[in-house]
Amino acid sequence: MTSPRTAHLAKSADAPPASPGPAPKRGLSYPLHEQLPAVGAAIEVAPGVFWLRMGLPFALNHINLWLLRDRLPHPTQLGAWQDGWTAVDCGVDNPATRQAWLQVEQEVLQGLPILRVLVTHMHPDHMGLAHWLCERWQAPLWMSTSEYQSAMLACSGLSNFGGDPTVQFFAAHGWNRPEDLAVVKSRVGYYTGMVPQVPGAYVRLMAGAQVRIGERNWQCIAGYGHSPEHMALYEAQGALLISGDMLLPSISTNVSVYAMEPEGNPLQHFLDSLDRMQHLPDETLVLPSHGRPFRGAVTRIAQLRQHHAERLDELVQACSQQDLSAHDVLPLIFKRALDVHQTTFAMGEAVAHLNLLWLSGQLLRQRGADGVYRFSRSQSSARPTGD
Ligand SMILES: [Zn+2]
Repeated sequence: MTSPRTAHLAKSADAPPASPGPAPKRGLSYPLHEQLPAVGAAIEVAPGVFWLRMGLPFALNHINLWLLRDRLPHPTQLGAWQDGWTAVDCGVDNPATRQAWLQVEQEVLQGLPILRVLVTHMHPDHMGLAHWLCERWQAPLWMSTSEYQSAMLACSGLSNFGGDPTVQFFAAHGWNRPEDLAVVKSRVGYYTGMVPQVPGAYVRLMAGAQVRIGERNWQCIAGYGHSPEHMALYEAQGALLISGDMLLPSISTNVSVYAMEPEGNPLQHFLDSLDRMQHLPDETLVLPSHGRPFRGAVTRIAQLRQHHAERLDELVQACSQQDLSAHDVLPLIFKRALDVHQTTFAMGEAVAHLNLLWLSGQLLRQRGADGVYRFSRSQSSARPTGD
């Protein structure tokens, strides 16, 4: 979620409403087949790497979390070591998820403590219980700076995911139904409802940094476009990728423009970020935040590129016929009826696609006398047929 990111809040974003692509599975394999961890239980997907699954209170009904066996110098006994766990992502803060973690404590942790809490990005399903886990285990939070600061802002109510700025942003992109916008305006407290607190300090993750966790060395891979500075983790020796929300097997990652950064180009950033995972060996086991662990990262990246390329092409064609706003193109991108909540995500995604085309010169953008931005085909970019 987020400010822009907050907006993200939207995270739900990750939510399927905004990401209605078909679920292309050809070329992907699921080595764990239909196995899913029960609530409060874990499946070991590689030595020392455990898969947890927690519920979510929105359409995307679950999140995958990871527990990595860890070993760190003992904080008070010089020369001694402490065995325990690093938790990767946390789930939202609600009673059910707290209860699930208490069950994990009893049934999965083997009596060992959580030594650190690593969060891939600030969206509520990943960040929600970080404050509680860090406090409970006296464990530090590890996170990138942009994600940490965006979480702090969102938690302080400064992310303008709802309220007047968001209403004005949507209205400028053609969404003008007063009753819908009244709902958007009232939508404050979305983030804090699931992330009531953020730990007061953190350890910074940076692109390219290596993090030693137990016997494994994980490399941070920064990703943009979904959230401010998402960190995926790649472990070369074991061919494991904790992909967070940047690479998902059956839904496309939510990529949205938000009111805080209305001229942003997150879709270009997202596509560029996929380049950083393009080199991964195809035997890499991808551990995504939603869906099942899979192999075939390069295939999946190609599918995502094609998915967005088709959308972009459709938009260019449509805007060649007539000038269109983001709201006008929703039926083109989303083939089913959307409620107000889903429309907020859909609008962000539509603007993301249109902004990419506008900022790359493939479409022109003009603001009408009614204050609405409309996009049209740029004649200078028109290519001859057959090109
Ligand atoms: Zn996310």
